[in-house]
Amino acid sequence: MKAEIAIVGGGLAGWALAEALLRQGVDPAQMLLLEARVTGAGASGLPLGLLHPFPGRSLYPRPGYLAAWRQSQSWLSRLSTSDAGRLFQSLPLWRLAFDPATAGRFERSYLRALAELSDYPLLSLSDTGVLTALTGFCLPDAALVDMPRLLARLRSCAPIQTRSHSGPLQLQRRGRDWVLQSDSNSCLASQVVLAVGCGLNVYFPELPLIPDRGEIAIFDLDAELPAAVSAAGQYLAPLGAGRMITGSTHYRAECALPPGQAWQTLRAGLDWLPGIRSARLIQIWTGTRLGSQDREPLVGAVPGQPGLWLLGAFATRGLLQIPTAAEALAQELLRAEVWIPEAMRAERFDAALWALTD
Ligand SMILES: Cc1cc2nc3c(=O)[nH]c(=O)nc-3n(C[C@H](O)[C@H](O)[C@H](O)COP(=O)(O)OP(=O)(O)OC[C@H]3O[C@@H](n4cnc5c(N)ncnc54)[C@H](O)[C@@H]3O)c2cc1C
Repeated sequence: MKAEIAIVGGGLAGWALAEALLRQGVDPAQMLLLEARVTGAGASGLPLGLLHPFPGRSLYPRPGYLAAWRQSQSWLSRLSTSDAGRLFQSLPLWRLAFDPATAGRFERSYLRALAELSDYPLLSLSDTGVLTALTGFCLPDAALVDMPRLLARLRSCAPIQTRSHSGPLQLQRRGRDWVLQSDSNSCLASQVVLAVGCGLNVYFPELPLIPDRGEIAIFDLDAELPAAVSAAGQYLAPLGAGRMITGSTHYRAECALPPGQAWQTLRAGLDWLPGIRSARLIQIWTGTRLGSQDREPLVGAVPGQPGLWLLGAFATRGLLQIPTAAEALAQELLRAEVWIPEAMRAERFDAALWALTD
């Protein structure tokens, strides 16, 4: 079989790219998506994800994050048709600092954010009438995204051929094409996009990528949370009907995630929201996501490998950056013009790191 464009990896990145390419007019018969397991088998397989422009520990959005956040919001709104159902729920997010050093930086970043978001008012925390002892601000519309529904919606927008394969998938250049060879099948493609999540180091073992471990947990609660709360790489968010979700990231790759990180998040949250004292655990998901050293994704042409492209290393910020990155990659792949933001471009890493494994 020969495809014009083969996407390797059926997570959020792979399907967002497929949808973007079809919207740009690519013939679905010319596309193929290869997945080693099943759609959502990787980091995108979590039930819910939180979208806001302050991911990780950053207090102020890094360059490009506000634009990416707005793009993600309009992308989700466009995909939320009456047939697809609601893909996300908007909710206020309190961004908190809970030690004096962070609080000092917080005040400065709040003022900068206020200047940049003048059309988008941030409320001061005292407006909420709660948590007055802490420093922070409130973003009126963060979003909790229904990940399985989003993946299903993207798949329905991109009716392309898919193949699953067992064992490793080898890539080899043959003339102007790439051969994609697995135990179970083989195909040719002119352009190949690797959207393989944690599988990236299998192809480029020299790339210095950092695995972040994460955990989300759902709890029953006797109280309703008034807003989502986020601080120091952890969040709590209301799910309605007496439930809440917590999320926590463990940034040190060399350490295993301590079991029950969710309990630590809860313990920290007790200072902010005493109502969560009654929380009862229902379910936990853990997973790993790869990030780069500079915490930006790897997107675009692989240096020295014509026809090979990347869409990966989204770490904890897939919902924030995948819509922007997939759209830009689709444009660049089809039009041979520069669309991908400088900070995301794969070529910022030294050419020596891009040796492909045999
Ligand atoms: C616990 C946890 C909580 C998170 N919370 C949030 C959140 O609140 N907000 C947010 O924005 N992000 C969050 N994230 C991060 C987000 O889930 C990821 O950034 C995003 O899902 C990455 O999507 P992806 O498509 O790049 O990777 P993946 O979803 O991992 O997809 C990669 C796919 O490629 C397949 N694959 C791998 N190797 C091969 C191969 N050789 N051949 C074929 N297929 C292959 C895998 O099976 C997989 O299906 C969280 C992640 C975790 C683990």
